[in-house]
Amino acid sequence: MKKDKALLEVSNLSKEFFIPGSLFGGMQTISALSDVSFNVDRGKTLAIVGESGSGKSTLGRCILRLLEPSGGDVRLAQKNLGALDSEALRMQRREMQIIFQDPIASLDPRMTVGQIIAEPLTIFEKQLSKAERSEKVRAIMTTVGLTPEMFNRYPHEFSGGQAQRIGIARALVSRPDLLVCDEPVSALDVSIQAQIINLLIGLKQQFALTMLFISHDLSVVRHIADHVLVLYLGRVMEIAPKGQLFTNPMHPYTRALLSAAPVPNPKLARERERIKLKGDVPSPLNPPSGCVFRTRCPFSRHECAATRPQLRPLDGEHSVACHFAESLE
Ligand code: ADP
Ligand code: MG
Repeated sequence: MKKDKALLEVSNLSKEFFIPGSLFGGMQTISALSDVSFNVDRGKTLAIVGESGSGKSTLGRCILRLLEPSGGDVRLAQKNLGALDSEALRMQRREMQIIFQDPIASLDPRMTVGQIIAEPLTIFEKQLSKAERSEKVRAIMTTVGLTPEMFNRYPHEFSGGQAQRIGIARALVSRPDLLVCDEPVSALDVSIQAQIINLLIGLKQQFALTMLFISHDLSVVRHIADHVLVLYLGRVMEIAPKGQLFTNPMHPYTRALLSAAPVPNPKLARERERIKLKGDVPSPLNPPSGCVFRTRCPFSRHECAATRPQLRPLDGEHSVACHFAESLE
């Protein structure tokens, strides 16, 4: 991803959580993100995939500074978000919005749909009259496939899919540059998932949105992503243009994820048994030495325990963090 066009630049981002330690007191450190770097060009969608607990939500929240990163920096349109004070950050939220996995839980049950969607306008566009505000809200409702008659109804009256449309309308009403989607369809029925994905693809073009699309499921990101970043225990395992990642995955973890997803790839279908993921993600309290994936990797060798593989470019925009990526069979 070339630097000159990048809207979002994430450099060496890390996040540690401290939790109460053992019976003997003290604190334990959870390394939820470690040294994560990538760029996203304006108008592009980067999917962030990995199993539960791999740090996807932490990454999305640290980028938006809904969580304070422990290290590294984040730039949006060249602006260093880490340098903003709380008021500047509040106003910066106009440019960067988020939608969540559970649409109904993320909408205030006491507010009407109209009030929920209008909220960002009351903060960022104070100059608008009530009529102008209501006009904008009705327009974005139509854009996301809601009918303006829903304006005075309450979130609990809606299905999950419609509630997610409300969340999307609220996120987009202030016309942000960056939209973070944190598992936005994971709680929805499969038939509804495709509708919401298609809606987001349309909105991405209509609003020239740059998106981070977080999902634990590679088959979900297949249609929407331009690039895919694979996260494991808070580290980037592989990042590549979507086509390359799906047809020529280089990291054993990516191959395992792909072999578990219903995507057509004959090479992976043959390997399915061998690269099936066994066991659980290790505890981030005590990550493996060297390559954090080695305890579940069918190709693990001595060097994998000894040295942590750095993310290194293979060709073009394809990078991988595996010592033996080129020699795996
Ligand atoms: P994902 O979204 O990929 O499922 P998360 O970003 O939610 O992963 O979590 C990454 C790791 O950080 C997990 O081990 C999780 O338990 C831990 N974690 C997340 N939030 C907190 C928190 N507030 N305090 C302590 N640990 C946390
Ligand atoms: Mg999550």
